Amino acid sequence: SRLLPDATTDMVCGYCSTGCSLRIHLKDGEAVNLTPTTDYPVNLGMACPKGWEALSVLDAEDRATTPLLRNNHGDLVPVSWDEAMRTLCVRFKEIGAEHGPESVAFLSTGQLVTEEMALLGALAKFGMGMIHGDGNTRQCMATAATAYKQSFGFDAPPFTYQDFEESDVIVLVGSNLCVAHPIMWERVCRNPHNPQVVVIDPRRTETAMQATLHLPIKPKSDLTFFYALAHVLVREGWIDRAFIDASTTGFESFADFVRDYPPQRAAEATGIAVELIETLARMFHEGKRVSFWWTMGVNQSYEGTRIAQSLINLALMTGNIGRPGTGANSITGQCNAMGSRLFSNTTGLFAGRDFKNAEDRREVADILDLPIENIPTVDSLPYHQIIEGIRSGAIRGLWVLCTNTAHSWIHQEDARELLSKLDFLVVQDMYATTETAQQADLVLPAAGWGEKEGTFINSERRIGVVKKVRRPPGEALPDFAIFRLVAEYWGCGERFRRWTSPEAAFGILQELSQGRPCDLSGMGGYAAIDHAGGAQWPCVEPVAEVAQQRRLFEDGRFYHEDEWARFIWEDSRPMPEAPDDSYPYLLLTGRGAASQWHTQTRTSKSPVLRKLSPQNIYIEMHPDDARAAGVAQHSKVAVSSRRGRLEATAFLTPTVQPGQVFIPMHYEATNRLTLAHFDPYSHQPSYKACAVKIEAL
Ligand code: SF4
Repeated sequence: SRLLPDATTDMVCGYCSTGCSLRIHLKDGEAVNLTPTTDYPVNLGMACPKGWEALSVLDAEDRATTPLLRNNHGDLVPVSWDEAMRTLCVRFKEIGAEHGPESVAFLSTGQLVTEEMALLGALAKFGMGMIHGDGNTRQCMATAATAYKQSFGFDAPPFTYQDFEESDVIVLVGSNLCVAHPIMWERVCRNPHNPQVVVIDPRRTETAMQATLHLPIKPKSDLTFFYALAHVLVREGWIDRAFIDASTTGFESFADFVRDYPPQRAAEATGIAVELIETLARMFHEGKRVSFWWTMGVNQSYEGTRIAQSLINLALMTGNIGRPGTGANSITGQCNAMGSRLFSNTTGLFAGRDFKNAEDRREVADILDLPIENIPTVDSLPYHQIIEGIRSGAIRGLWVLCTNTAHSWIHQEDARELLSKLDFLVVQDMYATTETAQQADLVLPAAGWGEKEGTFINSERRIGVVKKVRRPPGEALPDFAIFRLVAEYWGCGERFRRWTSPEAAFGILQELSQGRPCDLSGMGGYAAIDHAGGAQWPCVEPVAEVAQQRRLFEDGRFYHEDEWARFIWEDSRPMPEAPDDSYPYLLLTGRGAASQWHTQTRTSKSPVLRKLSPQNIYIEMHPDDARAAGVAQHSKVAVSSRRGRLEATAFLTPTVQPGQVFIPMHYEATNRLTLAHFDPYSHQPSYKACAVKIEAL
């Protein structure tokens, strides 16, 4: 009877970007259990293990329940909110006064609700005078955002989930969908058209095992591979000339460019036979509805933006966009990466605007009733340059929210050393035990998903509502309330008088989005969105009147001023750190299991999720390599790169190719090995390829 509910309410899940709805079972207004919502258009009654276990992680013993301040002995000790707020304001103001407004920055997340990340971006930049702030979406989605902006004129993933069920050729690139986005994979399995499912990935992932065709290309040979496909399509005339002429620009030059990428060249670079490349091109030609999907295998690459655009080019030249079952479709990572991309006010001004554009600044100043002088006229530094700014001494105060930099940032040892150099580090998080919180001078205890209100935007641009179904523990507060408190103590509370609640903030975001591609103005309030089963942007008409599944570009018009999509290309570059005699293996990293999430700050708190995946770090290694190196199954090995060393259990498996090894990203030590190199356009770190050596222990 303890779990017998007296009511239920629905809300979207707070882990991945799929945006499933969970039916929360309430007893006396408090969540006691949950089941997947059966009539929500996203998940249709399904949830992955993380969703099923979403409530249990709220009960963890290491929740931050009071503000913690580091004392003179170096210990974090409980203090009141009053002391925490005074200290934050005094220290950040001192640093700013001595070193200028650029010396204090924030690092945020794709896991706050949109209203919180918007208030943070407004408060930090228009209230506290910061210039620099970025999100951990830089680690996962910056590449897709940049690629879309350049190619389409706006950061606009064009698809709706129904496209998984309507394609007859589904191309998954660098995406282990059935592990990373299991509910989207269920959609692929439900496709009634007997589709070809093509997986392009160096590893024989769980998704690759179920594909109709797996092409294990050599790591980072993607650009050459996709240009060769374009070469064959041009050579054979397998292009959609009418679409190209009506809706795109740059095709003739692109066609000239790919002449230099014959399949023979690609076969050498990628390890995929000429016949297979030609077979795949033919599949694109014969498929009536071809869809291209990608995730981190593309995004987390030193040339990720151009790889994403090489897929966009294939969709454009074959006319596979704007129709059911088609599209060049980036699948987002975190539950609200899409909210962060549009409304976090970090490296871009609200709703896809530009800090450097005076007209954009004027619009925002008018809507927010602020002096235009309060809006910075320059872009924020991206994440890696904020980290580099600590090294140079330009950044001295940092506010890290709901992300675990000391675990997840590339070349971790360097990142930790830099965090320790800060004059003042504030960490705002649900847990006081994260690796980053352990380095903090001040920890602010935050409420988690289920303990506060707001909205997330999922991969298919759908806004879903999050509700308060639990009381936060101790003195923990919703991030929204913490930001309002900071505004009051800072002395700029008056500037944010309209931001009284998350729903009031949502109203402001609707105003900020009006007339923009990401228009939310027809959505009404939370109740209307909830009633409609979530709502995709753009939504100009009342939400009850718009279709539940909508894709972009059905009219062949894009967001550039001339309404044409762009073909964009660039020659491939060599890998920054290829294996050599000293470090003979190429390390790949990625998601390990559907039950793990990022740095495991939440998922490790669930006994059920802990049982579903190995808790100790392991490395996948090909049996032939293991034999040559004298490594036995399940034995301990030391893995070293030029930056660090870790010990792991060897898991011998032919799912990795000889010469390649794989370690899941969730373990604390993985990023000791990774190499800090970045895509030059999106500034996204390239987590997927660096050289390592392995010794049997
Ligand atoms: Fe939550 Fe993603 Fe799992 Fe759905 S697939 S239940 S959104 S973690």
